[in-house]
Amino acid sequence: MNVGAHVSVSGGVEKAISRQTDIGGSCGQIFAGSPRTWSVGEYTEDEASDFKDARSESGQSPYVIHSTYLVNLATPKDDLWGKSKNCLQKELDAAATLGVEYVVFHPGAHTGSGRDNGVERIIEAVHDLEIPTDVTLLFENTAGKGTTLGKEFTELQRMNDETDDEDTAVCIDTCHAHAAGHDLADSDEFTEMVEELDSTVGIENVPVLHLNDSKDPLGSEKDNHEHIGGGEIGDEGFRNVVNHPELEDKPMVLETPVDDKGYSDNLEHLLSLVE
Ligand SMILES: [Zn+2]
Ligand SMILES: [Zn+2]
Repeated sequence: MNVGAHVSVSGGVEKAISRQTDIGGSCGQIFAGSPRTWSVGEYTEDEASDFKDARSESGQSPYVIHSTYLVNLATPKDDLWGKSKNCLQKELDAAATLGVEYVVFHPGAHTGSGRDNGVERIIEAVHDLEIPTDVTLLFENTAGKGTTLGKEFTELQRMNDETDDEDTAVCIDTCHAHAAGHDLADSDEFTEMVEELDSTVGIENVPVLHLNDSKDPLGSEKDNHEHIGGGEIGDEGFRNVVNHPELEDKPMVLETPVDDKGYSDNLEHLLSLVE
């Protein structure tokens, strides 16, 4: 198993690595800036080499940068669309500087222009980006609230296929899949979900998973993460995920709530479900 968590970069990006070591993670995720603003960190060569050195010493791999929540490549508004592309480009460049393998982002919301137009807008934006060599841009599945895109695997498939000349792939979040109506705790339904994922996106195009339980009921379209096993997906759901032959070897990153129950408890609990 290769599991880790989304860790803080406060005090310096290289601090993420020791935090990951402390919780027992072997892969991980960070923000390259502040997730609710447009500011993206620009790392000096020194900062980057400190991060890379700490990482190679720890053996943690792969790493992911999670894009800010403001990015919306599906928007019909030109100013927001431009800002979003700019921001994502900076995050991709930060990944290249830090030697981070993936940048993941939420595809966005069409806010009334229609799903087709929204998907086309995303595809056009990704074509405008310059994805650095050795960095892969990941479309994340979403809970599906409002006009957000990427709830359906077929939508993710279209985004990924039509940007095939760029370096793109897909990240699947368990909380979002549950919110979108996939019952992970029912082994037949879960098997069907993985088969659907494989026949659309292709399981080989999913290099990273986000593992989060959900505070909300199945199909709620709400995105509220809960501790592993403590939410509506529950132990049965995560047992299905970590023991699935097509998924068990994929890097899994936790984004569980940051409160009294730490990541290490969550990782330990997750590992206890491996059969
Ligand atoms: Zn996400
Ligand atoms: Zn989420």
